[in-house]
This record gives sequence, structure tokens and C-alpha cells, in this order.
Amino acid sequence: MTDKGVVIIGAGQAGFSAASKLRDLGHGGPITLIGNEPAPPYQRPPLSKAYLLGEMARERLFLRPPGFYAERDITLLTGCTATEIRREARQVVLSDGNALPYRRLLLATGARPRLLPGADLDGVLVMRSLADADRLAQACQPGLRLLVVGGGYIGLEAAASAVKLGLRVTLIEAAPRILNRVAAPQTSDYFRDLHLSRGVDLREGVGLAHLTGAGGRVTGAVLTDGSELPADLVVAGIGVLPNIELAQAAGLTCENGISTDEYCRTADPAIFAAGDCTSFPWRGGRIRLESVGNAIDQAEVAAANMLGAGQVYQAKPWFWSDQFDVKLQIAGLSGAHDRVVTRLGAGPARSHWYFDGDRLQAVDAMNDPRVFMVAKRVLERGGPVDAALVADPASDLRALLAG
Ligand SMILES: Cc1cc2nc3c(=O)[nH]c(=O)nc-3n(C[C@H](O)[C@H](O)[C@H](O)COP(=O)(O)OP(=O)(O)OC[C@H]3O[C@@H](n4cnc5c(N)ncnc54)[C@H](O)[C@@H]3O)c2cc1C
Repeated sequence: MTDKGVVIIGAGQAGFSAASKLRDLGHGGPITLIGNEPAPPYQRPPLSKAYLLGEMARERLFLRPPGFYAERDITLLTGCTATEIRREARQVVLSDGNALPYRRLLLATGARPRLLPGADLDGVLVMRSLADADRLAQACQPGLRLLVVGGGYIGLEAAASAVKLGLRVTLIEAAPRILNRVAAPQTSDYFRDLHLSRGVDLREGVGLAHLTGAGGRVTGAVLTDGSELPADLVVAGIGVLPNIELAQAAGLTCENGISTDEYCRTADPAIFAAGDCTSFPWRGGRIRLESVGNAIDQAEVAAANMLGAGQVYQAKPWFWSDQFDVKLQIAGLSGAHDRVVTRLGAGPARSHWYFDGDRLQAVDAMNDPRVFMVAKRVLERGGPVDAALVADPASDLRALLAG
């Protein structure tokens, strides 16, 4: 590696993980981590959970204390945007006009929230960054009426946190059911019941027609069924768009994200990509994952491969979500399945096991960390899984790991 070193665009989970891993692997050359947010790298999951609830201090969000970067000789440029990649010259142009040379470049630009029409009205908020969370936390005053648009994990978590903070919450989902894109009807049912029991006015199969406002501030919404809803605040949880524009402008292939091969390499062998911005090969197709686990694992493989390791990235998807007093942990990807087997645990614990034939694809474990741990191991091991044993609440799941 020459002294041109490694440049990483995006100081989020993936960018941070790659920078750390490069040093762990003994890379002695320069590492520059470029982030357009003012804060050093931080974790996003608590933003819609403990941080929004005021249960987690700001300092605890940061992935490492500020001194870490100097100690590990990582140049962290915050509040700085990469505006252009010059592939021929192997340079990244920065918003301050400087051009940084690289020998290897990692794109870890993440994703940004999709915006609602009317997003420019005051009181219409999104939930992606620390600044977004601070805005929402400040706006969340008890008694206010909050409309959450979108029944995915971010929307459901925002709704749960807002109820705990004393707001009156309505959540609308245009699809026939919440979590429609990511989970089986059984899991949707579980979370619908949970939210309804805690007072969320949850409406499915109804979307947003348009927002209403007065004096530049949101006052409510008209829904696709013609009903009108007053609201003091609106949170959009309608998904994200991968930040691919830099890569596209540089002529790199993008397909639902910056396309990489199994080595986390883009169409340019000097440029790698990792995290939410990336689509990668998966079982004959391509997928893009939005999870901390993927951001870390992919970034670490990319780091190793930037140093010439030749490691294949084998995604082991896992995810979690906290809503009210339920911790959902997901192992695997539920995409291709032909049936779902329910296993009842103690009290509110329950898990949904997604099968394709006798192969386990994924498990949603609600308040059942033991099931999650076993499921992860079963999925890693592969092979047929006895669905009857899974369905029997008295069975010992460790039997699935034997043999
Ligand atoms: C509220 C919330 C809750 C979540 N909860 C969970 C959870 O419970 N479990 C889970 O697994 N995942 C969760 N996620 C998802 C998880 O946080 C993401 O998958 C993860 O942060 C992805 O990391 P990343 O580094 O790819 O992208 P990001 O974290 O988005 O980081 C990318 C960074 O790059 C910056 N950037 C983009 N373009 C440029 C540029 N040109 N120049 C400089 N900087 C640039 C961006 O501003 C951003 O700071 C949650 C996400 C959110 C928003």
C-alpha cells in the first residue's frame, strides 16, 4: 500500500467499522474517514428507541470516544462532503475544494429517508440522523397528536416511543398490513395487537393522500379513504433511498444500491462499497440490507479485501427492533418461504419460523433471546430442520443443533 492509503466516504457504522478493521489488520498507511454529519460516528438504532425516550445519554451513542481516531491515526473529517470521485486520477474531491488521493476507496454513504409530499412544512419530520432525533425529541410534547406514516420498523418504533412520551399517536400503513414487506402475517398480527393494546390508533390499508398545513406548519392529513386527521406532528417512516449519486456520477454500476461483487468490490477494482448503500450477490440475485450487522460485517470484509485478502462476503442477516416492552430479534431473511411455524414460549415470548420445504430461512423471535441464539446457529449450520420439533413448545431446541 502506498502512502496514498485508504479513503472512506461516509462516517457511519460501515465507514467506522472499515477504518477500525484496517488498523486491526495492521494497515499502517493513511486512513481518511469523511463524514458529512457534524458528529463523529454514532449508532443509529437507539435514535428511535432509548435516545428518543431520553433513556440514553448522547455520549453513549458514539461508537468510540473522540480520542480514538487520533490514537489510531485515523483522520476523521466531520462536516465534510465528498462531492466527486475522479477515478482516473484516483482522487476524491471534498466540499472544501481539496482533492484527496487514494489507493483504495470505500463507499459507505448509507441511505437517506424518502420524503413525503409536503415534507417542507414545519412539524413534518424524518428519523435517520442524530439531528433528526434531536428535532423529534424536542417536538414530542405530551398531549400532542402525532401521525406516523408507514408501518415498518422505524415507524412502529417511533410510534411506540411517542406513546411512552405521552403523545396521541395514529399510525397509517398503505399496505394491507404493517411490516408487509419484511415479515409474515403472524408477526404483523403480533405487533398490531401490541400497538393497539397500548393505545396507538393503527390503521392499515390506508395511505396518505396529502398533508394539510397553515402558515407553513402542518395541521393534519387527508387519507386515501377520504378521512381527515388533525395532527400537530408527522413522522415519515416510508423507507430509505441508498446514497448512490456519487458512485453513479463516477460511472460505477448501481442496481438498487452501489453494485458490488462477492468481494465487496465495485465495477472499479480500486473502489469498494459496504453498508446500506450497497447491493451485493445473494442466492443468484442481488440484495441490499439495512442493518447494523450487515454494515459491520460487510465493511470488515471490504477492509480485508482492500488489503488483498480475497475474502468472500457471506451475509448472515440479523436484525432487532424494540417496541414497548417487546424485543424482536430476527435471524435470517424471510424472503423465500412456503410456511411459517409458530413456537410459543413462556409468557409473551413467541417465535415465528419461516420454512422453505424443510429448510429454515429465518426466525422472528419476540422476547425470546434463547430462540434467537439457537436459530442463528441453526441457520449458519444449514441442513434440514424438524418443524414438528420447533412447533412443540415442550421440546428442547438444542436438539436442532445435534448431529
Ligand atoms: C432510527 C433508526 C433505527 C434503526 N434501528 C436498527 C436496529 O434496531 N437494528 C439494525 O440492525 N439496524 C437499525 N437501523 C439501521 C442501521 O442503523 C443502518 O443499517 C446502519 O446505520 C447502516 O450503516 P451505514 O454506515 O451503511 O450507513 P449510515 O449509518 O447511514 O452512514 C452513512 C454516512 O455517510 C454519510 N454520507 C453520505 N454521503 C456522503 C458524502 N458524499 N460525503 C460524506 N459523507 C456522506 C451520511 O450522512 C451518513 O452519516 C436503524 C436505522 C435508523 C435510522
